[in-house]
Amino acid sequence: MSASPLRLRFITSASAFEQLPELRAEVAFVGRSNVGKSSLVNALANTRQLARVSNTPGRTQLINLFGLDGRDDVGLVDLPGYGYAKVPGRIRRDWPEMIEGYLLERDSLVQVFVLVDGAIGPTPLDVQMLEWLRANQVPHSVVATKMDKVKSSRRDARRRDLAAGCDLERGDIVWTSTSNGAGIADLRHLVLAHLA
Ligand code: GDP
Repeated sequence: MSASPLRLRFITSASAFEQLPELRAEVAFVGRSNVGKSSLVNALANTRQLARVSNTPGRTQLINLFGLDGRDDVGLVDLPGYGYAKVPGRIRRDWPEMIEGYLLERDSLVQVFVLVDGAIGPTPLDVQMLEWLRANQVPHSVVATKMDKVKSSRRDARRRDLAAGCDLERGDIVWTSTSNGAGIADLRHLVLAHLA
């Protein structure tokens, strides 16, 4: 299978999953604000531009859907970052409901990738998210970001601690770095496998 960049194209932003076009299969990326989600989506597509779309004012709190070029029926969803303090109160109250609706009821959702900061995670909010996904039987896996920030002498211990914190086995977690490209090809493979 090819690990070449995913050819993603922006389809639409929506404030409720019912507004999204029907697809056969899609994967979603979610994580705490600043975890490195935009950088990672850009790295998957090998562009600096793509996730900027999701970060334009007015779109950061929306469900952003990208399609895979050449395939009409599969997609990738960039969900709003959680734990973002600077949103107006009304939006802060609304978004968990909107995300919960999407995660629980979107028929085409086949896998959620929960991003956890490799250097510091999981945070209590990450653990809460993982417990919620588990309790609701939403298929998910963990992607650790910013691997380059962990000294190589500390990596073994960090891998162990992060996995234990997420209540997962070490092998269940894909470690990535957008600074040096580690794990990006693996993640592309994984995304394509879920959308196959
Ligand atoms: P988002 O809020 O989750 O979309 O996070 P961003 O992609 O905007 O990244 C947040 C910050 O982390 C930025 O300053 C990025 O440059 C930095 N960052 C993202 N990925 C990496 C990485 O793999 N390594 C390092 N060292 N920094 C990263």
